[in-house]
Amino acid sequence: MIQEYQIRVLPVVASHEQNIRQYVADEKGIDARTINAVRVLKRSIDARQRTIFVNLTVRVYINEMPQDDEYVKTEYSDVSSKPAVIVVGEGPGGLFASLRLIELGLRPIVLERGKNVRERKIDLANIGKTQRVDPESNYCFGEGGAGAYSDGKLYTRSKKRGNIEKILNVFCQHGASTSILADAHPHIGTDKLPKVIENMRETIIRCGGEVHFQTKMTRLLINADTVVGAEAVNLKTGAEETYHGPVILATGHSARDVYRYLAEAKVEIEAKGIAVGVRLEHPSQLIDQIQYHSKQGRGKYLPAAEYSFVTQVDGRGVYSFCMCPGGFVIPAATDKEQLVVNGMSPSNRGTQWSNSGMVVETRPEDVGGDENDPLRVMHFQEKLERDCWQQANMKQTAPAQRMADFVNGRLSYDLPKSSYAPGLISSPLHFWMPKQISRRLQEGFKKFGKMSHGFLTNEALMIATETRTSAPVRIVRDRETLQHVRIHGLFPCGEGAGYAGGIVSAGVDGERCAEMCAEYVGAL
Ligand SMILES: Cc1cc2nc3c(=O)[nH]c(=O)nc-3n(C[C@H](O)[C@H](O)[C@H](O)COP(=O)(O)OP(=O)(O)OC[C@H]3O[C@@H](n4cnc5c(N)ncnc54)[C@H](O)[C@@H]3O)c2cc1C
Repeated sequence: MIQEYQIRVLPVVASHEQNIRQYVADEKGIDARTINAVRVLKRSIDARQRTIFVNLTVRVYINEMPQDDEYVKTEYSDVSSKPAVIVVGEGPGGLFASLRLIELGLRPIVLERGKNVRERKIDLANIGKTQRVDPESNYCFGEGGAGAYSDGKLYTRSKKRGNIEKILNVFCQHGASTSILADAHPHIGTDKLPKVIENMRETIIRCGGEVHFQTKMTRLLINADTVVGAEAVNLKTGAEETYHGPVILATGHSARDVYRYLAEAKVEIEAKGIAVGVRLEHPSQLIDQIQYHSKQGRGKYLPAAEYSFVTQVDGRGVYSFCMCPGGFVIPAATDKEQLVVNGMSPSNRGTQWSNSGMVVETRPEDVGGDENDPLRVMHFQEKLERDCWQQANMKQTAPAQRMADFVNGRLSYDLPKSSYAPGLISSPLHFWMPKQISRRLQEGFKKFGKMSHGFLTNEALMIATETRTSAPVRIVRDRETLQHVRIHGLFPCGEGAGYAGGIVSAGVDGERCAEMCAEYVGAL
């Protein structure tokens, strides 16, 4: 017999299958010896009260064994002789587009400017060691895209449940833990993501697709309003290469050369709002104490605590973004004269620090410049990143300020220890950041300090600057066909196109673009 129950248990009970089994047996009056297996279907932490509970939905196998896999498998067959589709960018958008193309009987040819996910890691380590960013291999460019060296958070505000479950199942099929199917806030972790991404690439190649690293798309081949292919440069040899087929353009929010090319080629794009601010880093123990209402912090059985804040200041949202409990702050620039920060965490979220982006909603009308210029938000982003790099003496040592000092408009005379590897320099962020951002952050922090006692503290550190929260440009596409509004056979995809924000939503958008591309190819 198989039974499903919803139970509310202490963290120690939720921490081990054996404990859950005994709890269910006692609670439901079942002989524990007849329970052969327990599978957790849903897991969430309720930390609203002093006593913390874990809500579980469990499937209990009484006198029988589970027969099915824990995840739904997708069949990928051989597509080596099928029509080709060019996928530019091997981030989550491009990866999920490629896998879905295979399901639909098309052959993906992936062009990726960066290196494979393992080689890329060396360039990331070098940023801290040499203070230099490789413009083709960094935290945003390379196999796995911006999502590879991240927290690997897999939750999204999107409501398309079925599509989200598909994405999570495909991750499991390629090696992610099946706990992501149960957790309310699933994440994979930067230590586990590279292997999952490699496995996805192997599926593409095994089925007859191609993946070309260090191959940068330089322009689209457009024939009378129809894309017929793409030109690329091989960054190892310098050779020009041409690829033929419709194009799924999934180049992410940091490919500014792609936006510039599209603007020059008169491919319709428009300015889009972003959010701008800093990374805020607290000792993780302090966040655990606040969120779990206990001086002991998280104890043995709870994960590093998360938080989420949102408020309005002078008509703009001020909010926490992409929280990384037990994580690191990392240098996420994509070119030499920029300083950009972001966050990531290992799967155990076990470092001494918890960070999040603290950002202010920034609309195109807030940034000045020519209102007909589709790149004006990108120019604002670029200027701020360059200013930040100059404040850092033209290195990757990031300008930083203690949180309460920032709110009170004081320079910090010393800085606490931080996870940010390239190092920090004390800087008056309240003074040089754009007033529309710094003033709202100051007010927002005061409000967050009132909402959560202890959150506004000089133990917390602000690290500048967080600008790559989403794309500053939208590549305008048709709502139904997902093709570019004017150019046929061009499918702007994922975060860079302005239609996704985060790993899962980029994956969902990748799948949808592949489906629409399959319809387009079928009609040719
Ligand atoms: C440090 C960090 C941490 C993050 N943490 C999370 C998280 O925990 N959870 C979450 O949901 N989201 C997170 N994000 C955001 C998430 O990574 C992105 O939303 C997601 O990766 C977008 O997917 P994408 O495929 O649209 O674009 P990207 O992931 O940006 O991929 C674009 C790819 O295109 C390639 N490319 C660009 N130009 C060219 C060209 N001309 N030719 C060939 N290739 C090109 C790039 O090298 C890149 O690999 C994080 C981002 C960063 C930077």
